Amino acid sequence: MSKRIIVVGAGLAGLTAAYELTRAGFDVQLFEARDRVGGRVQTAYLGSEQYGELGAEFVDDTHTALISYATQFNLQLDVAFRLPNELCYYIDGNFYTQEKLTPQQQAELNDLYQRLNQLLEQSADPPETLAQWLTAQSIASFANKVARQQSYGLYAADPEAIGVGFFAHSSTSSNRSRRIRGGSTQLVTALAHRLGDRIHLNAPVRRIQQHEQTIIVSLETSQGQVEAVADWIVIALPWSVLRYLSIEAPLLEIQREAIARLSYGTSVKTLLQYSHRFWQQCNWGLIVGDTPLQTVWESTTTQTGEAGILACTSSGTFSRSAAAQPVELAQQTVAALYLDASNASLPVRDRVSATATHDWGDDPWSRGAYCYFAPGDLKAWRSDLPYSAGRIVFAGEHTAPVEFCGYMEGAIRSGQQAAAQISAHAIAF
Ligand SMILES: Cc1cc2nc3c(=O)[nH]c(=O)nc-3n(C[C@H](O)[C@H](O)[C@H](O)COP(=O)(O)OP(=O)(O)OC[C@H]3O[C@@H](n4cnc5c(N)ncnc54)[C@H](O)[C@@H]3O)c2cc1C
Repeated sequence: MSKRIIVVGAGLAGLTAAYELTRAGFDVQLFEARDRVGGRVQTAYLGSEQYGELGAEFVDDTHTALISYATQFNLQLDVAFRLPNELCYYIDGNFYTQEKLTPQQQAELNDLYQRLNQLLEQSADPPETLAQWLTAQSIASFANKVARQQSYGLYAADPEAIGVGFFAHSSTSSNRSRRIRGGSTQLVTALAHRLGDRIHLNAPVRRIQQHEQTIIVSLETSQGQVEAVADWIVIALPWSVLRYLSIEAPLLEIQREAIARLSYGTSVKTLLQYSHRFWQQCNWGLIVGDTPLQTVWESTTTQTGEAGILACTSSGTFSRSAAAQPVELAQQTVAALYLDASNASLPVRDRVSATATHDWGDDPWSRGAYCYFAPGDLKAWRSDLPYSAGRIVFAGEHTAPVEFCGYMEGAIRSGQQAAAQISAHAIAF
């Protein structure tokens, strides 16, 4: 009899685990709380056949597991940005392209990245937040502000909360960033297509019990509360959500602690579709600013049509107030940026024609954007934290090698790792 596996959560991690286990001949059932697959991958299709991403968007050259799936499923990757050339800053009300940076500002940035690289080389996890470290190292004003905004932009975390040892990984981002043509949803759809009716939507899991030989999962369905039984389970939920489920299994103390305490940033992502790409008149790339809405970029750089979509994110503490009126805040920020970048007000004809927004901090099935490590947590949890216990295997971006945490790549790698682990167990049993 083939071994029965339950996978909980149809994000990229759960879909990957289910796909790989199915290919290896296991009998897989995948339970998902939402009425769609993909979790934090969610493409929004707006008018004029254009689209943007409410969740995951960019793919680095180092994201080899994702790139390999893209090849396997015949998905194309388009170049989104080349960094740092297309990275712009909006600091203290001034707009800076790379060419406009003064030698002094450039030197400040070089010094910052050199010091962060030193932390990485030493695999250091000092007991300091990014904000404390910036002060202790006397990082000069411009670089200090850029680093703070990158904490929001890259990790959705306040500089007063993120550990500098974890933040140091930001200095390793690749120079080229790509996107999946047709939207990131294409990837989850390709995986889901191969799983067919093994996926059960609208089926939130509430309780997981481990018995000697089996796993029993209690879930809600349209027929009421039901139980499902399996030999192993892959739990591919963010721990921000998992901490509210009942897990009756002999987890280690360190596992229970990490599930209860792992930090998650918050983020509101808003898409504005304009009838005309007015920003092309100025040198507008990926903008990182010291405004409540910290990052703005164009989603449609490789999409055709006169219209265009700008993506705007507000993260960390700022995102809580931005969540009240995200579209208005995004429009105001775009207008201010354009004024500073081009010395002209937004042309009246360039009205917003469609919008979409999502608040990941307020989403009951993610309860945050993605994980980050507070000071000391990296050291405490990375080497000593096992991602399995008995018949339970954990997956999700938060369980991936640290450089891939917070990325689709991390979710895919963790799903592959979970499948490999169960396959190895199954042979041993
Ligand atoms: C705003 C934003 C921007 C991002 N940008 C990028 C980017 O540019 N590039 C990149 O690579 N990554 C990006 N990411 C990160 C990326 O989206 C995630 O790392 C990845 O999608 C996480 O996948 P996952 O499977 O681990 O988790 P999820 O996608 O969260 O999957 C977990 C699934 O479990 C389900 N679930 C929750 N509770 C239950 C329950 N009780 N029972 C059953 N199912 C349940 C959820 O509905 C969800 O479908 C971004 C994320 C956000 C939020």
